Amino acid sequence: MKQRITILGATGSIGQSTLAVLAQHPEQYELFAVTANGNVDDMATICRNHRPRYAVMANPQAAQQLQQQLGACATTVLAGDEQVAAVAAAADVDIVMAAIVGAAGLLPTMAAVQAGKRILLANKEALVMSGQLFMDAVSRYHAELLPIDSEHNAIFQCLPESIQQPLGHSDLAAAGVHQILLTGSGGPFRELPLAELSEQTPTAACNHPNWSMGQKISVDSATMLNKGLEYIEARWLFNCQKEQLQVVVHPQSVIHSMVSYQDGSVIAQLGQPDMRTPIAYALGYPNRIPSGVEPLDFLQLGALTFMPADPQRYPCLHLAIEACWAGQWATTSLNAANEVAVAAFLAGQISFTTIAETCDAVLQKMPTKNLTSIEELLAYDNHARLLAQQYVERVAS
Ligand code: NAD
Ligand code: MG
Repeated sequence: MKQRITILGATGSIGQSTLAVLAQHPEQYELFAVTANGNVDDMATICRNHRPRYAVMANPQAAQQLQQQLGACATTVLAGDEQVAAVAAAADVDIVMAAIVGAAGLLPTMAAVQAGKRILLANKEALVMSGQLFMDAVSRYHAELLPIDSEHNAIFQCLPESIQQPLGHSDLAAAGVHQILLTGSGGPFRELPLAELSEQTPTAACNHPNWSMGQKISVDSATMLNKGLEYIEARWLFNCQKEQLQVVVHPQSVIHSMVSYQDGSVIAQLGQPDMRTPIAYALGYPNRIPSGVEPLDFLQLGALTFMPADPQRYPCLHLAIEACWAGQWATTSLNAANEVAVAAFLAGQISFTTIAETCDAVLQKMPTKNLTSIEELLAYDNHARLLAQQYVERVAS
């Protein structure tokens, strides 16, 4: 029987890559629903080409426009955040691709968790801002979590089955793991003189050397806060202790991450920088299905190089590592402050280096708090956003 899938964030970079993989396997998967925020034209194209049962626009006006564009079509158009969550939790759905960007993805992804779905997790911000609560809910509702972030997908592939299922609750050391090595390219500004960082434009920051991605994650890659969020993501997905997690800069993005074992073996996952590979892996797991990605040609590969991340160049990465071990209050604050700062940078209101300053200032002001429910967490996230907004406005004026 075909597996039915909902794609949250279907118009985005991950959403489109998911549609590209699904289109290669019409006999195995059926598109149940697609969701997006406001991109009506792209959503209309998706509906015409992929014929989902439902298309949900979080923005109600966009839903009206989509309905007008589609006219009489096999797809039912729905509107609003509640409907986004509803198609993630619907009884007919087997698999949910969680690919909304930012904190907006938390509630619909949680809805899929609470409905016990197989969740393909791209939306790292949801896990960063809710950590233990998210992982506990996955266990409680018997959901299945498969990482899509290329690094976490690589690490997952390099780990034994005893760690893969159920994810996030096993003992890495008992499985013979010495360390998880999280690789990152260092982004477009890896070799830029430090004094020039503050002048960098959004276009330059989004010009990633290896990957083609949405704007927010591209800016996060330039600051390496993306690697910081991924560090926190890895801590939860793989139940890591501090000494079990290390970041390594690897400019070529050929190795997507590695696991170092106590016997001296290191297992790495390599491939093209193309998200269709991790998406196909997670869709097919535990089987392998074609993704449309060409295999690596080792005879054409240049040198693979590795280096530490410079704390002066990448202050955001170091803030994130500290936040990871400080507690949930810190990672929720950092994620919220960063979302506000990146939006302000993309809007031309603040400089590139002000992103890190905003995150640092907000972290210093937020009270330490034990966050025990999603409601508390969202209120706390909101508080951090207000402080970040105030900071950004002060700098911009
Ligand atoms: P994107 O900006 O290209 O797409 C984001 C999607 O989310 C769009 O469909 C948009 O309509 C939807 N969306 C945005 N705000 C929304 C809201 N308020 N309510 C409902 N929907 C909303 O982003 P992307 O690059 O595809 O990234 C998506 C997620 O996957 C992010 O969390 C990112 O960190 C993660 N990720 C992306 C890549 C990549 O290669 N692009 C790799 C690893 C992880
Ligand atoms: Mg990644």
